[in-house]
Amino acid sequence: MSDVLYFNGRFTTTDERVLGVEDRGFLFGDAVYEVFKFLSKQPVFFRDHWRRLARNLDAIEIRNPWTEPSFIEAMRALLERTAFADGIVYIQVSRGEGPRAHFYPDDMVPTTIAYSRAFKFPDAAKKERGVQLITTVDRRWKHCDVKSVNLLANALAKKEAQRAGADEALLVDEGAVREGASSNFFAVRGGRVITHPLDEHILPGVTRDHTITVARNAGIPLDEGIVREHELGSLEEAFISSTTLGVMPVVKIDDRPIGGGVRGPLTAQLQRLFDEAEAHAVGF
Ligand code: PMP
Repeated sequence: MSDVLYFNGRFTTTDERVLGVEDRGFLFGDAVYEVFKFLSKQPVFFRDHWRRLARNLDAIEIRNPWTEPSFIEAMRALLERTAFADGIVYIQVSRGEGPRAHFYPDDMVPTTIAYSRAFKFPDAAKKERGVQLITTVDRRWKHCDVKSVNLLANALAKKEAQRAGADEALLVDEGAVREGASSNFFAVRGGRVITHPLDEHILPGVTRDHTITVARNAGIPLDEGIVREHELGSLEEAFISSTTLGVMPVVKIDDRPIGGGVRGPLTAQLQRLFDEAEAHAVGF
């Protein structure tokens, strides 16, 4: 199926082969990406995604091809050309194309792509049923706060989860539970919600951030701290968060049911509060 594709400022479709083989995104994973959700052709938490993209480009010294107004204009034009109402936009900016060499010139012209894709967001039944996780070793590089396209360790971990009949892999680094392969992780222990602090070990998820805000506004006790692997068996509740899943209950980790294997009450409350916040964050 072909989708509308934005490529370096012009529009085409995903059928066109636009990338050169010496693009550094392809050869070195020298690129960052961003994903936002749209509903009725309107973006959700748009500014958070723009700010994270801008921060990530800065972090690896790729020139930002956009200003905020030109980014808004490009994404508006992309969504106007999109044939469906709800989905995600995938954006990727690489350092650019040039003769393969680890050393790169300072003045490379970034390669910029963005495309919209239809996406079936979880319905009420799925949001209640939740997901199952496996634990696996976190083999990623040491800057997981940068949303780079180096997703090999994440993809291998996800495959391991799939082979085990689970939905997501929980990445564990010398006993410390970091995050999911494509989601942030929250636990409930002693009536308090706990999630990993923002540092180089996790991606600063937009959904994580808004979940923390709605929890604090509702007076739900929430700490940023480390959950250890050996504590996973005694959690009262757990959930993961991401742009595509929102707040999603975790009902099993490895062979252990969490909270009796059903969605917990704090998770259900946070799911509701997050969905309300999301409904208020639709639009440019
Ligand atoms: N952590 C990782 C490793 C991810 O890939 C993602 C989703 N891209 C997240 C967390 C969740 O981030 P967000 O809520 O911004 O989608």
